Amino acid sequence: MNPKAMHKITYGMYVVSSTKAGQINGQIANTVIQTTSDPAMVAVCLNKQNLTHDFVQTSKVFSVSVLSTSTPIEFIGRFGFKSGRDTPKFDGVNSRMGQTGAPIVLDHAIAFLEAEVVDSMDAGTHTVFLGKVVDADVLDAAAEPMTYAYYHMVKGGKSPKTAPTYIKEEPVKEARSADKWECSVCGYVYDPAVGDPDSGVKPGTAFEDIPDDWICPVCGAAKSEFKKLA
Ligand code: FE
Repeated sequence: MNPKAMHKITYGMYVVSSTKAGQINGQIANTVIQTTSDPAMVAVCLNKQNLTHDFVQTSKVFSVSVLSTSTPIEFIGRFGFKSGRDTPKFDGVNSRMGQTGAPIVLDHAIAFLEAEVVDSMDAGTHTVFLGKVVDADVLDAAAEPMTYAYYHMVKGGKSPKTAPTYIKEEPVKEARSADKWECSVCGYVYDPAVGDPDSGVKPGTAFEDIPDDWICPVCGAAKSEFKKLA
């Protein structure tokens, strides 16, 4: 079996959010699909280790925010590589309460939907939740939705270990340049040609010239956690 065949399946990039006992949390998910149109139903596949999984299982509601191609990598890192157990992910994030009680992330969202869980399936490490859509709207008709492939290519993203699509020992990225540095925590690669404009690091900035208090835009790791790519 060639697991790379799985890489040919296309996905989007979403924030799936939920609530439990007055708390709110959300996480990045790439596995959101519309299963039927009448009634409108969606399925999401969440890792059992994730706090959002616990919230969805308990409250039986969730929202999905569809992210745009312009979503900064820090934003994806906040919801994708950090746990709501340690980080209040919604601090400083524009969101609103949905009619189900689940929060809806509005920043970088081009559309949202809210669903009530009608069924779920144990999928080993993950649970597939099937939800009936109770509300949905387009927030930015002009923006393009981010695909998982776009995230990987343009944003230099990597799958966290809890993603359904994570494959152990992801293939070594080709064209490794001597002046690229990789985050040892999340795998984000700093490319001096690209810089990190979202954090004020202009394209053309050598890694050595980045301020010492700069942190990994994906996972928040310190600059010292980076290793030079051979
Ligand atoms: Fe990182």
